[in-house]
Amino acid sequence: MFQKIFAILSIIALLSDCGAVYASQLPDLGSEFRAELSVADELLIGEHMHRELRSSGMYCKDPLVQEYVRYLGNRLTPHMPTPYDHIRPRFFALEDRTINAFAFFGAHVAINTGLIEITESENEIAGVLAHELAHVAQQHLVRMVVENKRMLPMALAGSIAAVVLAGPEMIIPVLAGHMQHMVNFTRQNEQEADRIGMQILAKAKFDPHGLPMALERLSDKLRYEAKIPEYLRSHPLFESRISDTRHRADMLPATRKTDSPMYNLIKARILVANTHNLQQLIHDLSSQIKSARHANELATKYAYAYALLQLGKNAEALKAIYALVNKHPNNLIVQMTAADIEASNHKYKEAQMRLEQQLELHADSESLQLQYIDLLIKTSQVPHAINTLENLKAEHQPDIFYYSLRRQAEGLRNNKVGVHEANAELLFLAGNYPKAIAELQIALQESTIDLSIQHRINTRITAITDLQTRLDNV
Ligand SMILES: [Zn+2]
Repeated sequence: MFQKIFAILSIIALLSDCGAVYASQLPDLGSEFRAELSVADELLIGEHMHRELRSSGMYCKDPLVQEYVRYLGNRLTPHMPTPYDHIRPRFFALEDRTINAFAFFGAHVAINTGLIEITESENEIAGVLAHELAHVAQQHLVRMVVENKRMLPMALAGSIAAVVLAGPEMIIPVLAGHMQHMVNFTRQNEQEADRIGMQILAKAKFDPHGLPMALERLSDKLRYEAKIPEYLRSHPLFESRISDTRHRADMLPATRKTDSPMYNLIKARILVANTHNLQQLIHDLSSQIKSARHANELATKYAYAYALLQLGKNAEALKAIYALVNKHPNNLIVQMTAADIEASNHKYKEAQMRLEQQLELHADSESLQLQYIDLLIKTSQVPHAINTLENLKAEHQPDIFYYSLRRQAEGLRNNKVGVHEANAELLFLAGNYPKAIAELQIALQESTIDLSIQHRINTRITAITDLQTRLDNV
């Protein structure tokens, strides 16, 4: 059952932001939808979808990119017009060159690295995230599900479950049949998300022109994409949204026009990660540097050093990053990359000192702490690594990066139970609940296990089993 919910909702999410699903009157949500799907169940589904996305391999594996997207999103969240029933919005990046961003159940907002790559200012990314956050604030996805259900044949309309059971291949023709109706519905939601998104942007002290600028860039790119259906290419929705949002932006206060020091470096990392030909990229960057033909000197030189590291040219990478480190002593990304390159050149002492200096300046950076733990593990400083892992866990919700390091650290200190527990959490985070439980049951068989750990593992097994039962019953 649940897999089908995911399948259909993915389609709805996709259609909604390409400009497709709607109603002239927004339905009253309180009674109709919440009776079928409580906020708690919505969160349950949203978190499961998040885990499915993680296991799909699309989840961006660069902790710095994830931290940056969270940073921008968390600046916007306090300015939502209405808090979302105690659900704190979560922002994350997907490693995908397709230009896309979307919101889904449980106040989740995803942005593809391909979209970040085409922007030319931080305000544009903030604009896209604010638009998606407005979809969350206005509960558009929830409304859309209600509306779709209303528009479906009676045989399917008995419950959400019935809609979902029909499967996407049946739903698509039904949706297509109601295209005009849905176009109107989507248009209305998109306009509302633009309007509210821009208010959020302005209140968060970003330039509200970020949204029309991002829409314009999207429109330019989509026009040349062969695989975009003619319907969407010729649809005037984009054009009117661009002029509407531009007009609104002119009337809102713009207080923040400069990018944070991270913006161009994050884009540089994405450029390197998304390139198909590192050697060619290195060649291009090198000639840009030689001829001083670069839009942003630091970003170009940084991308060059980072690309060399990715290609395994460690000594050259070190030379390139050392040309930057002294000029940018407080730039977290430059310093973290320098430590990364130093470690690749077996300069572990230098790397550790550099990271420790940065920890004094940026104690709240999760990706910095993760890199520090990684270095401690590489240099077999196991007790220190375990302590730092514990501190990190107290401050940030542990994720896949955390548990991958935890597994390594526990392995190094020969704690088999700890390795199984970390494995179980990695399986859980990938949405594979039966395997997570099986892994915990293996841990219980270890002879070294004491009563308190036994209790902790049993509690976890019960929690995962309950979660699975709830998901099966949604
Ligand atoms: Zn939208």
